[in-house]
Amino acid sequence: MPGALDGRGGEDFFSKAYALGFARVGVAPAGRPPYLEAFQEWIAEGRHGGMTWIERHRALRADPGTLLPGCRAVITLAFPYSSKKPATPDGFTMARYTRPRDPDYHRTLRDLCRDLAREVVLRYPGSRCRVCVDSAPVLERSFAWAAGIGFWGKNNMLIIPDLGSYFFLAEILTTAPLEFPRAQPMESLCGSCTRCLDACPTGALGSDHRFDARRCLSYLTIEHKGPLPAGTGDRMGDCFLGCDACQEVCPFNGESGARDICLPTPDTFLEMDDTAFDAAYGSTALARAGIVKIRENIRAMERP
Ligand code: SF4
Ligand code: SF4
Repeated sequence: MPGALDGRGGEDFFSKAYALGFARVGVAPAGRPPYLEAFQEWIAEGRHGGMTWIERHRALRADPGTLLPGCRAVITLAFPYSSKKPATPDGFTMARYTRPRDPDYHRTLRDLCRDLAREVVLRYPGSRCRVCVDSAPVLERSFAWAAGIGFWGKNNMLIIPDLGSYFFLAEILTTAPLEFPRAQPMESLCGSCTRCLDACPTGALGSDHRFDARRCLSYLTIEHKGPLPAGTGDRMGDCFLGCDACQEVCPFNGESGARDICLPTPDTFLEMDDTAFDAAYGSTALARAGIVKIRENIRAMERP
């Protein structure tokens, strides 16, 4: 790990984070996040599609000090998930991050981060922390990049060179006066590789990171409200929730072929009512899309 937080047992803090399952921990100074302008441009051009909630809280995104008055640092944490793809017995899949066997990662990570935040407050009595797991408008990849834990890939994911991109990010904002070595943001290691751009079935990854969510299967099969655009099902391959195509081909993720057969068949989802879905998946990340959306995705794949 790149250095202790400071002389107040920083090494212990990192050890605890690793013992809890985090794969990387970094610290970035609070303040205007890098790539804020690119993010604002993304919204101004409407490339965020129907995710209108992203338009709100622009001021909060520009300065973590508005989320936690007196914020001095953003502790950024990467928590890995399995590279095995959740699959049905008949060969259909969901994106890896959905982890249908496990509780929704938001809840799990929030609890782990609260544990760590308590450590910070113990070491800095009077300091305050705020845990963010997609729960506050924080440009998490920007801070993770600024903290030096990975580089920004052409697939728009943060990539940790010896880990890849199959991980969640979480942040602890803190007012504690941490002393930490100024991290060197990582240069891109993509080089001349264009595998992700070539593999994207919809052309959602523009050049120069000009990602267009409106074309992205991950957005269309989870967040998009209303009917799927014509032809979407043809591009989904075997994956009826989310999309990992631009990560599967990335050499930093290694071999991506392994599957975890943990899902029922698509027909079972088509026949599942709300009650059965809630009982089986109500506390997992699948609940974000919901059974109505999942059924719609499956039907889109079936369309002749
Ligand atoms: S998630 Fe799928 S559709 Fe979206 S950019 Fe990546 S490859 Fe393209
Ligand atoms: S597939 Fe290649 S270009 Fe895309 S993020 Fe990975 S290394 Fe970079």
